[in-house]
Amino acid sequence: MADSRQRPRTFPLSLDKVAPKATPAAAPPRRSDELLRPQRPVEAAARDQRQRSAPVGLGLDSDYVRRRMVDRLRAQGVRDEGVLAAMLQVPRHAFVDTALATQAYEDTSLPIGLQQTISKPSVVARMIELMCAGRGPASMGRVLEIGTGCGYQAAVLSFVARQVVSVERLKPLHDKARELLAPLRRHNLRLVYGDGMLGHAPNAPYDGIIAAAGGQYLPQAWLDQLAPGGRLVAPMVAPGGGQVLVLVENREGRYVRSEHEAVHFVPLKSGTT
Ligand code: SAH
Repeated sequence: MADSRQRPRTFPLSLDKVAPKATPAAAPPRRSDELLRPQRPVEAAARDQRQRSAPVGLGLDSDYVRRRMVDRLRAQGVRDEGVLAAMLQVPRHAFVDTALATQAYEDTSLPIGLQQTISKPSVVARMIELMCAGRGPASMGRVLEIGTGCGYQAAVLSFVARQVVSVERLKPLHDKARELLAPLRRHNLRLVYGDGMLGHAPNAPYDGIIAAAGGQYLPQAWLDQLAPGGRLVAPMVAPGGGQVLVLVENREGRYVRSEHEAVHFVPLKSGTT
């Protein structure tokens, strides 16, 4: 990447150092002691491990690499300052496995379990920008996300919209997202376990709908739940294969569709598991 040529690589980084110079060297970290106890249950150790990468007490290192990520997004053409500010707020490393945390601010999708992935930062930014259509920072009303996954994009959306509803069909991922999002305390974000192909009627209509999984067609429920003036952004299987980003605008009941760049998302599936 052009970026790694400009600066020496700084990875691997300790992403969660909290004011390292101010920490008394003599005090051993209590959590490591606990982890070394042989009788410690594996689940508890794994939970601690996850908490260590949680956004509580973010250190300077992750702030720095996140700022660089946002600089790259700007250089790639993301113009919406509201979206860029939101991307700066959310600690992406807290949403991936600790073993992958050093790659969290590279422009790449990463596995999150159950054959699903966290989307690339550039795609997250691009899709939210398309949905917002330059309405200005934090100006979106109610937004529906299909495919919570680990919850990263839902967190970003919660900084650009007044209210966010995010639906996930895989229960273990829905639970994981709930756990990972808890430290962020986004009170305007609601997670729903269900089939997102049905949208989420109780909170409809939505000013924006964004799908993180791609199907052959756009479910009718999404169009029905899109408010007048609302914008829907979703990957769709292209006629010649592959996927393309599709934008649908609801212009007072007339649905205007445009196609944008090629993308690569996990498949949209019906039902819940
Ligand atoms: N939004 C995530 C990306 C998640 S990957 C991010 O921040 O990176 C896409 C997710 O869509 C997967 O978790 C998958 O289980 C989910 N998905 C696929 N079909 C779905 C459906 N019909 N309803 C809800 N979620 C669905």
